[in-house]
Amino acid sequence: MKKITILGSTGSIGVSTLDICRRHPDRYDVYALTANRDTQKLLSQIQEFKPEIAVVADISAALALEKQVKALSLKTRVVGGSDALSEVAAADEVDMVMAAIVGAAGLLPALAAVKAGKTLLLANKEALVLSGHLFIETARRCGARILPIDSEHNAIYQCLPVDFDNDLHRHGVKRILLTASGGPFLNTSAEALKQVTPAQAIAHPNWDMGKKISVDSATMMNKGLEVVEARWLFNLSPDDIDVVVHPQSVIHSMVEYADGSVLAQLGNPDMRTPIAHAMAWPERIASGVQSLDLFDIARLDFVKPDFQRFRCLQLAFDSLRDRYSAPAILNAANEISVDAFLNGQIAFTDIASINASVMDKLPAEDTDSIEHLLEIDVIARNMARQFLHVR
Ligand code: NAD
Ligand code: MG
Repeated sequence: MKKITILGSTGSIGVSTLDICRRHPDRYDVYALTANRDTQKLLSQIQEFKPEIAVVADISAALALEKQVKALSLKTRVVGGSDALSEVAAADEVDMVMAAIVGAAGLLPALAAVKAGKTLLLANKEALVLSGHLFIETARRCGARILPIDSEHNAIYQCLPVDFDNDLHRHGVKRILLTASGGPFLNTSAEALKQVTPAQAIAHPNWDMGKKISVDSATMMNKGLEVVEARWLFNLSPDDIDVVVHPQSVIHSMVEYADGSVLAQLGNPDMRTPIAHAMAWPERIASGVQSLDLFDIARLDFVKPDFQRFRCLQLAFDSLRDRYSAPAILNAANEISVDAFLNGQIAFTDIASINASVMDKLPAEDTDSIEHLLEIDVIARNMARQFLHVR
């Protein structure tokens, strides 16, 4: 029986994780569930999974939830505030932690899990983008295993030798092929991109996800963040990572070896596959995902990414060739610009322009301090906010 903390349990990944727990009550015991402020959904999860602790980042929402939990005579302890997220991630009782908070807000709780030597199921790619080298270094030092949840990285993990070490080239790996659906605007002209609405941007053709990552998929910033994520998870240089647009989202990524072999992981686009893989690793368990029907799919297409129309992807590669804080700057600017786009403040194409302007204006630096990276994150956000108003 494994005890699990699910950070961001009310989100898209959190709900899929709980579905795996529901299917395997003999294997997983939910220790803690957390949300930002969606207490209605959290309350129904508490009723079903009866965790020991529920954390709500927003303190007044936590107080309201606590009253409801007491009124229903449930035993779950409700705690408010962001610090408690790190506490439930590092608690002694916990074996593994699902890091499924969206954005930089997920960094400190995920890092707390790593420092406590937990098995970390990492969905929150922004944590790694913000602090890649430090995060991985800390995991190594503290003996924490990181199992990737992002479907592409999970696919790569499945195509690598078991217990590969820090040097993939030594294992005969030549490069990785990171697949991308291309998002809803794969064939939309640069001119038409200026007019797209938030509703169009979050309607992903293959995956059902949270709003932020859906917009990131539409700008291909998501693929950019994933390039950075892959660089750190697998200790590769950006030259070892190629992005391949594959609109069907059936191949979730590939690894090419020195002998010419290319290994791929395939499956229906349903996050319960990578979640179940990581939760049960190194075993395999049922996830509820339907069998892949290759006759129904019939064909698989591959296209080169367009770095001009999807400038965010280029920015991510550029950030990896810059100093350590560059991806953190890009990520911070992107969180602000995506939020502004979703609120109707800026056009879709302004997302990339604002991200580029912040990267231009704020010189990157090398740093070995999380606190410093978090300061840089705040500075980059403030600068991005100024660019919103200039427009
Ligand atoms: P989501 O928006 O559906 O859910 C986010 C969760 O984080 C919610 O539970 C929310 O309450 C919580 N949260 C948000 N802000 C918070 C804050 N400031 N403090 C504490 N909690 C906060 O997002 P999602 O689509 O589930 O994505 C979660 C993470 O997983 C993201 O980093 C995303 O990039 C990554 N990811 C998601 C998918 C997917 O299919 N949804 C696939 C790959 C990777
Ligand atoms: Mg992905």
